[in-house]
Amino acid sequence: MLKLTPILLAVLYALAMYHFSAWRTRRELDARSTELADARIKALTDRMAQALDLPRIRVDIYEIAPVNGLAAPDGRIFLTRGFYDRYRAGEVTAEELASVIAHELGHVALGHTRRRMIDFSGQNALRTALAMVLARFLPGIGVFVANALSRVLSARLSRQDEYEADAYAAALLTKAGIGTGPQKKLFAKLERLAGARGGVVPAWLMSHPRTEDRVRAIEMLEARWQTVSTD
Ligand SMILES: [Zn+2]
Repeated sequence: MLKLTPILLAVLYALAMYHFSAWRTRRELDARSTELADARIKALTDRMAQALDLPRIRVDIYEIAPVNGLAAPDGRIFLTRGFYDRYRAGEVTAEELASVIAHELGHVALGHTRRRMIDFSGQNALRTALAMVLARFLPGIGVFVANALSRVLSARLSRQDEYEADAYAAALLTKAGIGTGPQKKLFAKLERLAGARGGVVPAWLMSHPRTEDRVRAIEMLEARWQTVSTD
């Protein structure tokens, strides 16, 4: 039992961190966001809501400049003011923004947001526990190995989440009659925007896998759906 105590403490610490960061995130988002009111985007989210059998899909604007979309741990969907400004300037279409909303909805529907918060705080606990175990077998370097392992593990988990959210979005956009065209076009567009701004990559791209890989994954899904529907 004594040997387990440090691990138990690490787990308790992770739980406390989880609650604290969830609370802090919610407070920050509440203070700096308002509901999106845009007729063209609403027409598209209504089509997606209908495809999902939901009364409506609420989207909020988060008042920060970076181009990003996010799903909060409580399930709310946010587009940043920076992203919305690109749409207002005609650089991004309503359909392309709908594809971001669909992607974030995927994170919510598949339970990623809650898990990611746990990942975030749980990483510390995992690292601590791993370091303690490894230190016994690899004195001196156990901590480094534990750090590297937990980093690789969480990076892999989040990459997988991104492909799953893309697949969810592709299915939803298809069902809603919007199609996957805007989803794929947006990736390239964001990269171009990044190039035009001296290599400043939009946040929404940075936290996600490589664009070519994402487009290829969506095309593979489409090929599969095609064979299913013509069978
Ligand atoms: Zn994502």
